[in-house]
Amino acid sequence: ISVDGSDDDSRIRVCVRKRPMNKKELAKESYDIVTTATTRFPHSQVYVHEPKTRVDMSKYIETHSFILDHSFDETSTNEQVYLATGKPLVKSIFEGGMCTFFAYGQTGSGKTHTIFGNPAEPGIYSYTCRDIFSQINTTTPPDQQSPHLRCSFFEIYGPKINDLLNPNPNAAPITLCEDKHGSVNLMNLHEEIVTSLSSLLSLVQRGRSLRTTRATNANSESSRSHALFQIRIVSNDGYLIGVLSLVDLAGSERGVDSISFTAKPDKKTQSEAAEINKSLLSLKECIRALYKRGLDEENGHVPFRGSKLTHILRDSFLCRESRTVMVATISPGSTSVEHTLNTLRYADRVKEL
Ligand code: ADP
Ligand code: MG
Repeated sequence: ISVDGSDDDSRIRVCVRKRPMNKKELAKESYDIVTTATTRFPHSQVYVHEPKTRVDMSKYIETHSFILDHSFDETSTNEQVYLATGKPLVKSIFEGGMCTFFAYGQTGSGKTHTIFGNPAEPGIYSYTCRDIFSQINTTTPPDQQSPHLRCSFFEIYGPKINDLLNPNPNAAPITLCEDKHGSVNLMNLHEEIVTSLSSLLSLVQRGRSLRTTRATNANSESSRSHALFQIRIVSNDGYLIGVLSLVDLAGSERGVDSISFTAKPDKKTQSEAAEINKSLLSLKECIRALYKRGLDEENGHVPFRGSKLTHILRDSFLCRESRTVMVATISPGSTSVEHTLNTLRYADRVKEL
């Protein structure tokens, strides 16, 4: 059995990643309730042992199990996750694909860790970029100019799109529009041409630090916005070869369904939650529609316009060569059981028939 996932050519893969228990959880009366098991390859099973004590104080444990395409336990590294999920996307974008990688889950469950990582453990974005450049370098004949990358990095925060590569606070607002062929464009979005791996890595660092600064200044958190890092591979004669989007989604617990968890939400929190909920729901519907279409070739109505997020990604979803990966990140602790179950139910629904 190969763990690099390259033998699985399904267009949509939904995986789960469990992070290790953290200090806070270990200090609290929280215990690990999640086990993962590899069953029929390529599917993986995740069990969540729900502590019933919250409801009836009995010591019985109720087990929920979910079968997804792949599971990564608390010992997994970003590189292992990359090999099984992101690497097949790189191959596909050089074949004309428009591929998307989503990290979905509760705040603190490891979405940003998975995509962007930290200096000690680089995120899957850095492995992806490394492989994109090595592909470019090995396939370009010495007498030809190599393809270049056009990168953008932005956040969707409610109805607003914030550029993470343009620090100018007076920059013209980014607006979404469709051209006469129905292609989606983001007007005024800053795009940077990148020709080396090192400049790409520093570009991402720049965007990330702007994201952190903005979040602090606005007294809000990155958990309330979706962050999209997009790479367009463009041939030396200006022809678009493929697109990769890495999407660090807003915390799934921010949705309306879970609003009862927070005490007396104010109006702003409520409308924010409604917006996030809408986008996560329409994302699920769009992926489901594509999965079904892939199976029966039927082209029904897909609710791309249901949210800014899905509208922006519309072309990627519609592309025949597209591939989609969703990594659902979960916290192992018993104190997160509700959110973990919600995340797994969502992941399950994405591919359920
Ligand atoms: P999210 O983006 O989902 O809110 P983060 O990625 O910021 O969550 O993760 C929260 C914390 O947990 C961070 O300090 C991060 O480094 C750590 N963490 C998350 N996933 C892992 C993992 N798989 N291994 C080790 N540490 C992790
Ligand atoms: Mg995050």
